[in-house]
Amino acid sequence: MRGKSEVLVIGAGVVGCAIARELAKFKIETVLLEKENDVGSGVSKGNSGVLHTGLYYPKGSLKAKLCVEGRLMFPKLAKQLDVPYKLCGKHVIARTDEELEDLKGLKAVGEDNGVQGLTIISGKELKKREPNVDALSALHSPVAGIFPPYLFTIALAENALNNGVKIYANTKVLTIKEVNSGYKVATTQGVFYTEVIVNSAGLYADRVSAMIGLDKYKLYPCRGEYLILDKKCHELINSMIYPVPPKVAGVLGVHLTPTLDGNILIGPSAEFINERVDSRTTKEKIQQLIEGAKSLLPSIPLNEVIYAFSAVRSKITPPEEKESRDFIIREDLDNFINLIGIESPGLTSSPAIAKMVFQMIRRKMDVKEKIDFNPIRRRTTPFSESSRIKQASLIKGDPAYGEMVCRCEHVSKREVLDALNNPFLARTISAVKYRTRAGMGRCHGGFCLPKIVEILKEEYGMLSEEIHLKNLDSPLFIGTTKGLREKGKSE
Ligand SMILES: Cc1cc2nc3c(=O)[nH]c(=O)nc-3n(C[C@H](O)[C@H](O)[C@H](O)COP(=O)(O)OP(=O)(O)OC[C@H]3O[C@@H](n4cnc5c(N)ncnc54)[C@H](O)[C@@H]3O)c2cc1C
Repeated sequence: MRGKSEVLVIGAGVVGCAIARELAKFKIETVLLEKENDVGSGVSKGNSGVLHTGLYYPKGSLKAKLCVEGRLMFPKLAKQLDVPYKLCGKHVIARTDEELEDLKGLKAVGEDNGVQGLTIISGKELKKREPNVDALSALHSPVAGIFPPYLFTIALAENALNNGVKIYANTKVLTIKEVNSGYKVATTQGVFYTEVIVNSAGLYADRVSAMIGLDKYKLYPCRGEYLILDKKCHELINSMIYPVPPKVAGVLGVHLTPTLDGNILIGPSAEFINERVDSRTTKEKIQQLIEGAKSLLPSIPLNEVIYAFSAVRSKITPPEEKESRDFIIREDLDNFINLIGIESPGLTSSPAIAKMVFQMIRRKMDVKEKIDFNPIRRRTTPFSESSRIKQASLIKGDPAYGEMVCRCEHVSKREVLDALNNPFLARTISAVKYRTRAGMGRCHGGFCLPKIVEILKEEYGMLSEEIHLKNLDSPLFIGTTKGLREKGKSE
């Protein structure tokens, strides 16, 4: 047996980590299981990173309620967890009279949901705020924000761990059986027993639910592709620029999102796919993104695209349906809480989802607050964000700060080592990338990847064949070249 708990959460995405952190405030023995080798390895790492306000979801829906609550909870949480964010605001633009009517509709929905500060502004006013954008008018939502979703997920997980939650990575749930006192959960790393299960397995939540015989759910994977523009372009927009949403369920249309680091995201597209693991980018969708971006910002310099990536939505809405279905958060079986179809705005809603799940658990057990719960988690200030004087003193104290591993993002060897020393023991290229930004810059790993490989070999004694990009399915090396074989080297 690997472990015994009162609550076992399946899936360490932003939702599972937020739930684990919420439960950590109370005297509840909590275990969090993740099939991949790091937290936030699912859709929580690759999305728009937008703090939504609640314009798009019908009043009374869980999406509307939890999005509004989650956004209001976010600033305090981000401060406690030291996660950077910016309320840069959002403009949804109308180019025709018909679209202006749609804007009025969005404003009414938003106000119904309690979103504050919504105004419709003229094209002239928009031009003053966004000189590169032309439109007839725009709906301005000043409280919408941006943040790095991967840093948020990691921070939630670290804070949960520091407050007593046991987190097991590389632990895939295989079967679940009801036993006398709760559930027996068989995983790739042994058997766990628990009283309550929270299924927050994202794109696989329907399959986890089916493990206990609840096979009534079907998720429809829907891929969204993105392009990333170089930081050079950061002055092109000051806020998020969205079109009026197309009449497709749960899709907001190709939009432009500035990131905190100065890039601009173009996307996402929307395409129902058969395979959940299919994270390709395609010529056809990239073309669609380019057209979408040009229609919002005609002067957009597409030669500054540095990377393309995709993420897969876990939609509970079948492709043929026009209206987007709501989140499903319910106790489907005694002590078995299912979270199904947690698509956008799941990131924004995650703190409120966690509170809701806690309330469901509180009704079943006598829980007491932990007086020693520490809500604070600090990240080390990135070297690149430190002053020159501070940088000099850091290098004096530890020469590893003076060794640049990622030239584009100015990430030092010390920061790479700190990232690799993460508490989840994730020693992959992605673990470094999502903690430090090494590999997210203009050359996208061309310079730093071999250096990180060297660090893994030298500092951790890893062999080439043990080095992976993301998880055990993504080895970085697949064999030995002829030249190296002749020299007797391993790759
Ligand atoms: C293109 C796109 C853009 C988006 N933009 C936004 C946005 O701007 N704002 C916003 O609020 N929301 C956005 N979202 C939605 C948001 O990303 C998701 O709602 C949120 O990340 C879902 O988190 P999760 O924890 O439920 O899922 P995940 O992050 O996928 O986590 C589920 C975890 O469960 C693990 N798991 C699965 N099966 C098992 C198993 N058998 N055993 C153990 N572990 C398992 C997975 O490995 C995974 O890590 C976007 C989504 C997409 C796809």
